[in-house]
Amino acid sequence: MDYDVIIIGAGPGGIYAAYELAKNNTGMKIAVIEAGKELANRKCPIDGDKVKTCINCPSCSIMSGFGGAGAFSDGKYNITNDFGGTLHEYIGKDKAIELMKYVDEINMSHGGEGTKLYSTANTSIKKLCMQNKLLLLDASVRHLGTDKNYVVLGNLYDELKDKVDFMFLTPVVDIAVIDGGYKIVTTKSSLTCSKCIVSVGRSGSKWMEEVCHNLDIETESNRVDLGVRVELPAELFSHLTDELYESKIVYRTEKFEDKVRTFCMNPRGSVVNENTNGIVTVNGHSFEDPAKQTDKTNFALLVSKHFSEPFKDSNGYGESIARLSNMLGGGVIVQRFGDLIRGRRTNHKRLEASFVTPTLKAEPGDLSLVLPKRILDGIIEMIYALDKIAPGTANDDTLLYGVEVKFYNMEVKLNERLETKYSGLYMIGDGSGVTHSLSHASASGVFVARDILSSVKN
Ligand SMILES: Cc1cc2nc3c(=O)[nH]c(=O)nc-3n(C[C@H](O)[C@H](O)[C@H](O)COP(=O)(O)OP(=O)(O)OC[C@H]3O[C@@H](n4cnc5c(N)ncnc54)[C@H](O)[C@@H]3O)c2cc1C
Repeated sequence: MDYDVIIIGAGPGGIYAAYELAKNNTGMKIAVIEAGKELANRKCPIDGDKVKTCINCPSCSIMSGFGGAGAFSDGKYNITNDFGGTLHEYIGKDKAIELMKYVDEINMSHGGEGTKLYSTANTSIKKLCMQNKLLLLDASVRHLGTDKNYVVLGNLYDELKDKVDFMFLTPVVDIAVIDGGYKIVTTKSSLTCSKCIVSVGRSGSKWMEEVCHNLDIETESNRVDLGVRVELPAELFSHLTDELYESKIVYRTEKFEDKVRTFCMNPRGSVVNENTNGIVTVNGHSFEDPAKQTDKTNFALLVSKHFSEPFKDSNGYGESIARLSNMLGGGVIVQRFGDLIRGRRTNHKRLEASFVTPTLKAEPGDLSLVLPKRILDGIIEMIYALDKIAPGTANDDTLLYGVEVKFYNMEVKLNERLETKYSGLYMIGDGSGVTHSLSHASASGVFVARDILSSVKN
């Protein structure tokens, strides 16, 4: 075999798997094969000046390369089993939390020291939420910030690059089962290994579907989250964000009893484009360094849509809605809340007159032409509910960007060791459908690395 272990994908799942394998120094030959670029070479061409919108680069620097989708993220590591994935269903709740804490220690010893760990425990905000029909989920949140997150990744790469063979700009096209292991076919060559960890994230979701189909690995897909990103003056949410940084709040709508939740809160942050397989949606991030912060807070409001038989393509449904917004707005659409409830489009004039200036250059438009009524009704109800705990949320000038879509990779059938039906073929991170977050994806990487190490010892 060319390698003992080949890891496909250098996102958090792949990186922490490589870290744990290399740290234990068993003499194993390890390779990480990554479709995107090295961290230092990752740069999104959108500069707001010459390049204003996504130009569909062959390798998207936001989603691909060392650090994966997490490289320019807000670096929020939520230590919880309540959201961020279902890793605990495979490995147990205590183990999952233990591994997330272990990842936090690694981050702290690689440049993250000094960053704040927030917690919802013993907070009066929980009561305030309950009094207003809102549920605040429990979590500890380490906020690295986009800047420190980048430093941590850089330090991890420096430490790993002499112990692990990294291959960048090398998409894997196929995995074949061979005697005693796997043949990994890339656009450049073929390599063999005894064990393979597939950690290709959301950007690798389409390819994962093919791999699972070809290898006859069972998958399931029935969920997509749809909604908008809300942006408002940071002061309106400061009593929540100063204490908790990120508050994950759930609301059950009166009209349809649907659940709407806040997601990815970025105090004093910026709204950004996200490109998934050529479809431009919206996301957000914020910096730890006060000099880089803005005077706005942004967060998503999402509604989960589960489908029942015979429909199976939940991501296709989400994509179609995102495509519709791209068709109408050429990318992401922005609308003032006041315009949305008055049933009119936000145009350039109304946006310029708004007290809240957008941090993302998006096309002013009408989100009611894009989002299904039931979802939009739920979002509007939740904005009024949030207005009770953070007055001003339902102001006319609150900005809504759309659409935000959270695609869920199909869930791959795995055993409790995150292994497929093929011995030594592991699927982890967001690509496996088991995780949807930095902390869970990273923890899944450590988990399988330890599983491999224990099988070598035995
Ligand atoms: C803008 C943004 C902000 C975010 N903020 C947060 C946050 O604050 N907190 C949080 O918990 N989560 C956040 N997320 C989500 C988080 O980044 C992901 O959950 C996490 O990165 C998943 O890790 P992963 O290793 O599973 O996959 P990824 O990070 O997606 O990494 C997968 C890697 O595999 C590579 N790859 C794909 N296909 C192939 C192939 N065929 N061959 C070789 N390589 C391949 C990709 O190029 C990529 O680098 C954010 C995401 C984005 C886009």
